[in-house]
Amino acid sequence: MSGPASPRQGTVDLCYDDDPDLLPAAEASRRIHAHVPVMRQTETRDLPDALGRVLAADVVSPVNVPGHTNSAVDGYALAGGDLPGDGAEVSLRVVGQAFAGTPYADAVSRGECVHIMTGAVMPRGSDTVVMQEHVVAEDDDVRIAGGHQAGQNVRQAGEDLRAGQIMLSRGTRLMPASLGMLASTGIARVSVLREIKVAFFSTGDELRSLGETLQPGEVYDSNRYTLRAMLSRLGAQFIDMGVVRDDPVLLGAALDRACTLADVVISSGGVSTGEADYVKQLLEERGQIGFWRIAVRPGRPLAFGLLGDRVFFGLPGNPVAVMVTFYQFVQPALLAMMGVTSPPPLPLLEARCPLPLRKKPGRVEYYRAVLARNAGGELEVRPTGKTGSGLLHTMHDANCLIVLPEDAESMPAGSAVPVQPFFGMV
Ligand code: AMP
Ligand code: MG
Repeated sequence: MSGPASPRQGTVDLCYDDDPDLLPAAEASRRIHAHVPVMRQTETRDLPDALGRVLAADVVSPVNVPGHTNSAVDGYALAGGDLPGDGAEVSLRVVGQAFAGTPYADAVSRGECVHIMTGAVMPRGSDTVVMQEHVVAEDDDVRIAGGHQAGQNVRQAGEDLRAGQIMLSRGTRLMPASLGMLASTGIARVSVLREIKVAFFSTGDELRSLGETLQPGEVYDSNRYTLRAMLSRLGAQFIDMGVVRDDPVLLGAALDRACTLADVVISSGGVSTGEADYVKQLLEERGQIGFWRIAVRPGRPLAFGLLGDRVFFGLPGNPVAVMVTFYQFVQPALLAMMGVTSPPPLPLLEARCPLPLRKKPGRVEYYRAVLARNAGGELEVRPTGKTGSGLLHTMHDANCLIVLPEDAESMPAGSAVPVQPFFGMV
């Protein structure tokens, strides 16, 4: 790993929580992004199977969309020059009909119009449509009053996509609208980057998997299930390696096996003080440590390193800390590895918090919270409850995180705070 391989040393102005080895969150993100490899292998996918996949090359539109200038409404197609002035009225002869898929074959002459449906090709000689509701039909004629604009209610050929333009660039993550755009040009197959593979396991002698019976003092492993869900929503392939006991030999074997299976290895638990020595030592033996403690709450024990060309994240054990560190550090890294360059992440919002918030300067703190409008119509954000990082229900009840920056101190009730909505997290 190029760049600093050991945690940043404390200086007079970098004293984090009395622990000089805590790396600032922004520096942790920078190191991760500087070191994760971007997927280069490509494959071809049929369009219906390409949701969430990342384009391996720019896509050029082979055609104009729409392919023909057509009507945006049901109404009457005419030459704009026939429209009456304000306060005047004109009567035009209806010479035919145009339907979507069945054009009117002839030209429209001055003094004439064609009854046209939404999506029907504009007949030659016409450039304007007056909505059906705005005319008075009389036998074979329609009467049109003033107040219309030449060119109105018409969709121009190529208005959505022009033949020859780059319609979607390399690095675009294919979403419903992008799939629809591709389909609208007739493109049936796309070249995409290979999905990344992520192997994950939980560590802890106290952990049991679903279906097992708990002995006194044991707990069910929940992290593997949240991790699996977050990874599958992200569009990564995942390999669930189960629970590994707190034993350096077994942990080392799990790491080695994970590296043969996946591009990324994620563990949870076993990185807090005391246990951390295992992970640190195992990483040192096999690769390089980028960092293993960062100045955030929850989630301080977060390890990042490289095992050869595999990327390793050692997440904390506490279930909320797992989700917060995944969304803040792992998900952006995985998206970068997947080759995603668009869309840009949503900016932070700002909302008033009616409750006081406790905060230690020197670390970024995340509060699980609900963002809503108050009775006065203002955006207001409220923490979902206690801040314990084992209280998964406080994550479940939240729709956002309050993100208090490193230099912030405790905030009085009514302070405006930065808010990161969850729906921006893909
Ligand atoms: P650790 O980081 O291993 O010391 O774990 C911190 C806390 O998180 C302990 O209370 C663990 O029991 C709990 N924990 C660790 N891993 C998991 C897991 N996979 N599911 C649920 N709780 C866990
Ligand atoms: Mg543990």
